[in-house]
Amino acid sequence: MKLNNKILLPDASEWERYRNDFPILKKRINGYPLVYLDNAATSQKPRQVIQTIVDYYETLNANVHRGVHTLSQISTDAFEQARIKAQAFINAESHREIIFTKGTSNAINLVAYSFSRAFLSPGDEVLVSALEHHSNIVPWQIVTKERGAHLRILPMNEKGELLIGQFSNLISDKTKIIAISHVSNSLGTVNPISELTRIARQHGIPVLIDGAQAVPHLKVDVQALDCDFYCFSGHKMLGPTGIGILFGKEEWLNKMPPFEGGGEMIQSVNYNDSTYNELPFKFEAGTPHIEGALGLATAIDYLLHIGMDSIHQREMFLYKLALNRLSDLPGFKLVGSASDKSPVLSFLIDGLHPYDVGVLLDKQGVAVRTGHHCTQPVMDFMQIPGTIRASFSFYNNEDDVLQLEAALKKAIQILS
Ligand code: PMP
Repeated sequence: MKLNNKILLPDASEWERYRNDFPILKKRINGYPLVYLDNAATSQKPRQVIQTIVDYYETLNANVHRGVHTLSQISTDAFEQARIKAQAFINAESHREIIFTKGTSNAINLVAYSFSRAFLSPGDEVLVSALEHHSNIVPWQIVTKERGAHLRILPMNEKGELLIGQFSNLISDKTKIIAISHVSNSLGTVNPISELTRIARQHGIPVLIDGAQAVPHLKVDVQALDCDFYCFSGHKMLGPTGIGILFGKEEWLNKMPPFEGGGEMIQSVNYNDSTYNELPFKFEAGTPHIEGALGLATAIDYLLHIGMDSIHQREMFLYKLALNRLSDLPGFKLVGSASDKSPVLSFLIDGLHPYDVGVLLDKQGVAVRTGHHCTQPVMDFMQIPGTIRASFSFYNNEDDVLQLEAALKKAIQILS
């Protein structure tokens, strides 16, 4: 460990020890060591998370919240402990504000459908930004169309920064909710959330934050951000797929109707009517993804053991190293150069299609994502078909960056 700006940073051998916790990184792809640079799509899982899932099925498996039997009580306790862990991780005030979902998309859909049923009328507006993932556009598009309401868009500049100066002008008494990403998945821009929520608060408008790309890389404190809803996915932060979190302020969740009906979310049912369970269960219909929640709790422990500040510094070091090594290659063009960035390196090579480059990188063991990254409006704004995206995690290392550079050089040679 060494002290850097008062953060105790793990040294190279410690980072290698963390890397060794990820069995898949030992794999070879097409005869080369795997260089996994598609972390923004999904992260890899440490053996501790994998073992949690195995242990769950070997020692704990029982349905939660319903059995009088001991095993069900143990599994309910573990499940509810996972909720408390997620609550502490984002510093929510109460466990009642933490709803288990399938992931970010499911969490946004929950809010879009439930909020619009209660609060959206014809002529109303929902404000999103020009940087959003389709998951934070399409649900709002569906519900605004259903209710005769409209979507407004906060624009961005060529660097991929939101035009915050225009934010206040886009807000009116028709605006009912604002939905914005914390970090852009295709360009890596980190948006100034506290500034946006401060302005929204002056107008009394709730703010939903899509935190899918923030939570794996930054310390997130929903009380400091002062947002009303915050959504994220377990699978992007070392946890299993199919589990995610919706944080919602009780004040809003209490006023919103259930999203889905079923077991668990009710207090009583007869053929005329039903009454609903208390928070958070009102929004958790059916048997939840129990082992997913437990795996997510282990992932949170793992991240916190390293420390979010150390993770951030490590990832930005790798990002900057990669940018440095690649920027002199012929035709290299960075896409997204916001002043506040996360470790997402989106780029193009002049004259080459991103897909062709991606295929040749894969042939050399390097996994990147190419295309529009579920942000077609961002690509339309930039007037490009897509990008090549290398996204970093703390378990990547300098050799990964060098292998990316060598593979890209070869791809350019072959394709030019
Ligand atoms: N928002 C952002 C910014 C994302 O990057 C993603 C995943 N690519 C999502 C939402 C959707 O997440 P999920 O597929 O886990 O629901």
